[in-house]
Amino acid sequence: MAETQLDDVRKVFTEDDGNEIVAVNDVSIDIEDGEFLVLVGPSGCGKSTTLRMIAGLESITDGEIRLDDRVINDLPAKERNIAMVFQSYALYPHMTVRENMAFGLEESTDLSDDEIATRVEETAEMMGIDPLLDRKPEELSGGQQQRVALGRAIVREPAVFLMDEPLSNLDAKLRAQMRTELQQLQEQLETTTVYVTHDQTEAMTMGDRIAILNDGELQQVGTPLECYHEPANAFVADFIGEPAMNFFDVTHRNADGDGAVLAGETLEYAVSNDIATAIGDRNELVLGVRPEDIDIQHSDGNPRRADGHTVPATVTVVEPTGDENIVYLDLGEDGSETAIVTIDGMSRIEAGDRVVAHIPEDAIHVFDGKTNETLHNRRVESSEPRAPNI
Ligand code: ATP
Repeated sequence: MAETQLDDVRKVFTEDDGNEIVAVNDVSIDIEDGEFLVLVGPSGCGKSTTLRMIAGLESITDGEIRLDDRVINDLPAKERNIAMVFQSYALYPHMTVRENMAFGLEESTDLSDDEIATRVEETAEMMGIDPLLDRKPEELSGGQQQRVALGRAIVREPAVFLMDEPLSNLDAKLRAQMRTELQQLQEQLETTTVYVTHDQTEAMTMGDRIAILNDGELQQVGTPLECYHEPANAFVADFIGEPAMNFFDVTHRNADGDGAVLAGETLEYAVSNDIATAIGDRNELVLGVRPEDIDIQHSDGNPRRADGHTVPATVTVVEPTGDENIVYLDLGEDGSETAIVTIDGMSRIEAGDRVVAHIPEDAIHVFDGKTNETLHNRRVESSEPRAPNI
């Protein structure tokens, strides 16, 4: 177990033609002792490079990495007491599972053969792979190989686990199962873990906290729900959540009485004073709302609520997933803007239906259209009860 700190860590790769690539740009994160931190972001954002610098597999251009207050920038990988699990599993094909698990201990500790054998067997039992100990990797399924790769890391009892997309070669069902198992294992072992993925679902469900990277820059570090409900900027708001948040480009004008109106191509959205104050005199804005926060009702027989928060819409596509319907809407009369809404799977709705979409004010986010920074986040506590959908 160990506290791991990244302090203004920077990595610049220089290509053969002298071109410099800033893969990681002044990233600072304090990873607490025993914490499960997920590093997430799109392809090429610098996740693996960050992990490899912590492991000692990549040099650091600038900044400091500390393990329990000791600077480890120049410490060789094998002296860091860190175990890494890769997407490819990287098992030695000519060795049995037992030999694969014992190998690291033989190399990096002075434990006796008996002690190593006992540790390997205890860990294999804990991981449910003890019946596989005498098989070679080629005789194992993908899920079993993955378990062995984890077992090989666990048996070393390292201070920190680093995992680089360890579940991405598994099918969806096994992946969901391993996600839960890994979390339980980590809680039981209480070993500080840094886990890299590009999959926001994995990040949301596994991490104590998640750190979101984009273009080598840290966007936000927070609990999954903080990042979901209180994103630091439009990038995080967009990246976290599936289907993604709806965004509308708007400008603002002061309302006759209190507050302001956010006007877009189809929206004329009234906001109260506190949101108007947060917006100030900025006029290039983005209004955001999550698909589950928009409620829709059939137009027929439902009077349009006159609170400045509704917009007529036409259903273009309905994707049933069982528990919910993902509904695609053309907004306004000309359908020049679209929105995605998720509603209960049992609701009766089909393409071509005319609806009224209601966007509750306590659920909206407002971002600065120039900088992408958040100006206002949705209310998290005591939101107003939602109207039932269709
Ligand atoms: P992915 O999810 O696709 O694995 P990532 O977030 O892990 O992506 P990195 O592999 O850390 O991203 O790469 C970050 C950036 O650094 C990318 O632009 C990549 O092309 C660049 N990069 C990584 N390794 C090298 C290298 N050895 N030489 C030059 N550029 C590199």
